Amino acid sequence: MFIGHFGVALAAKRLTPKSSLGALMFAAEFLDLLWPIFLLLGVEHVRVVPGITKVQPFDFYDYPFSHSLTMTLRWALAVGLIYYLVRCHVRGAWVLASLVLSHWVLDFISHRPDMPLWPGGPKVGLGLWNSWPASISVELLLFGVGLWLYLGSTRARDRVGTYAFWSLMALLALGWLGALFAPPPPDTHQLALGALAIWLTVPWAWWADAHRESTSTG
Ligand SMILES: [Zn+2]
Repeated sequence: MFIGHFGVALAAKRLTPKSSLGALMFAAEFLDLLWPIFLLLGVEHVRVVPGITKVQPFDFYDYPFSHSLTMTLRWALAVGLIYYLVRCHVRGAWVLASLVLSHWVLDFISHRPDMPLWPGGPKVGLGLWNSWPASISVELLLFGVGLWLYLGSTRARDRVGTYAFWSLMALLALGWLGALFAPPPPDTHQLALGALAIWLTVPWAWWADAHRESTSTG
């Protein structure tokens, strides 16, 4: 899953209007923010296998620390707890922890059975990536609904609130199209370096969101 995770982060703004979109995207993408770092450190591994699923050519054969269910629960707890300690915002902390967990659930739906329940444990996955129409529809639906909810709960305070936000949305859309249609990277090192670009979305979303205000009265 790619753009769908961002859709869930956008939607979550409605649940916790005081939380920055940057924090929401950080939580929803947390597992994929860790993953390239673990790849570069040699702790986790992936290989390029064209055709392994219809949509994605990657064999995620070893990523227990970033993408196993039990580790995800720990990461969710850690992200929620740190947010609570920094912001003293209980609701926001719960939403962020749930967003970390939502990443695993959406990846479980997308991936072939390569998602470990625990490090070394059985691997699961529903394999949405074996169908182009289903993959594209689910991602577009999640992103579209998330965008619609976010736009319904915030409005731009100034030009930055408009342009920074829409340029980020354009970047996400382009990143998604690139992931779908560009040829696979020559090696996994390049893949990891490219995946590090996801970190950019966090300060960008924080910046755009700081120039928007909540439309809710509560
Ligand atoms: Zn992931």
